[in-house]
Amino acid sequence: MEKSSNNSSSHVLIFPFPAQGHVNSMLKLAELLSLSGLTITFLNTQHSQECLARFTDIKARFLKYPGFRFVTVPDSLPIDSGNVAKVLDALKLESKPVIEKLLIESNPRINCFIVDGILGFVTDLASELAIPIIYFRTISACAFWSYFCIPDMIEAGELPIKGEEEMDRLITKVPGMETFLRKRDLPSFCRANGMTEPTFYMIMNETQQTTRAQALIMNTFEDLESPILSQIRNHCPKTYTIGPLHELLKSIKIRSTNKQELHQSSNSLWEVDRTCIAWLDNQPSQSVIYVSFGSFANLTLDQLIEFWHGLINSNRRFLWVIRPSSVTDKEGIVVEKFPEELQEGCKENGYIVKWAPQEEVLAHKAIGGFLTHSGWNSTLESIVAGVPMICWPYFADQQTNSRFVSEVWKLGLDMKDVCNRKVVEKMVNDLMVNKREEFVRSAARMAELARKSISEGGSSFCNLNRLIEDIRLMSV
Ligand code: UDP
Repeated sequence: MEKSSNNSSSHVLIFPFPAQGHVNSMLKLAELLSLSGLTITFLNTQHSQECLARFTDIKARFLKYPGFRFVTVPDSLPIDSGNVAKVLDALKLESKPVIEKLLIESNPRINCFIVDGILGFVTDLASELAIPIIYFRTISACAFWSYFCIPDMIEAGELPIKGEEEMDRLITKVPGMETFLRKRDLPSFCRANGMTEPTFYMIMNETQQTTRAQALIMNTFEDLESPILSQIRNHCPKTYTIGPLHELLKSIKIRSTNKQELHQSSNSLWEVDRTCIAWLDNQPSQSVIYVSFGSFANLTLDQLIEFWHGLINSNRRFLWVIRPSSVTDKEGIVVEKFPEELQEGCKENGYIVKWAPQEEVLAHKAIGGFLTHSGWNSTLESIVAGVPMICWPYFADQQTNSRFVSEVWKLGLDMKDVCNRKVVEKMVNDLMVNKREEFVRSAARMAELARKSISEGGSSFCNLNRLIEDIRLMSV
């Protein structure tokens, strides 16, 4: 990535939705653009900024980029308050004056917006002031495309879903997915109880607005989702795929610093427990299944017990991330102390941490599989590491990602809507032993394609350069 001499006039305002996955991905993009010499203002909510600062000196990390600064928006509703639509309304009210002030006072002048694709309200402001706006979607192209097609599904009567008996019926109105996408695989907001929620309409409307942006950035790569990307490009011709973003950033930083070993910049919400790496060092190659459901999903105690017995009965080794306060009883009360039998069972084959250095874990030679909630970041990290997956999608886009992992990319198994110890045991053994060869083969092939995409001349590498050039052109 070349630095250009006319960078000083290109000033980009980056504005993520205040959820950890969104902030993390857009920070990575901000770092990539900073490395190319662009001036960046990163607009974050106070709450998100405090979360970021809890375990890492986030400001110091970005100090090395002279054109980079954080600006915060006061926020009354953190994302964990539950209602995404309400958070958006509050964010709209609170961010507008901050953006307006920035536009007046910034030097050099802000001449491009890159905003989270669900912050459509910024588009009105951008068009009023004739500032180009680019959307960034943090989800997979397949999930984005499913959201985009919701109005057609409603018109054809495929939505709303009328009951459980319809869940295995194929959807016909998502072009490119007609042969494998069941109603069960649509993003969870499309399910019966989801469609009455404001979040469903918010996501549908925000996604439809994408065509108003000058361009769209996606954290994916061409070889992974090319048929779906062609569909998207019929509506959003300028779609830049620059994923896997974490790996692209890592490789560009290695190139620019000439250092071979580089730990990925951590934007963690919880303190990372690195003792699991020492534990992994003592396990045989590809013998361990890594279990993690990301930063948001919660389990009921019953579900935890089913996973637990399934893992123990499989006789495989496991490394499990159980976040503090992420397990609840039937009444929704947080369970902090688990039954004695579970703790005993863990001693032989298992290791538990509250938060792991996930990318490093997935790259460890002892890891042979990943039991995941199919969050898009986790899915991409697993793909890059060539680790096959068992998917237990929790909500939102994860339902669609898991279908692609199992049916399209053949990178693992989908355990959607089931949480039963016998199934867990069988799937773990299928992934780790019985069907291992086929999964390992396709995972290795996809990892190779992911690496190719971020290497010099690869699709994501070139798309990033194109994006930077286009931003510079927008600034003249
Ligand atoms: N993660 C981590 N340590 C953990 C669990 C998760 O660093 O113990 C990171 C993981 O590497 C990924 C992110 O948290 O980058 C989870 O993002 P994802 O999109 O998979 O799911 P979400 O948390 O948004 O549901």
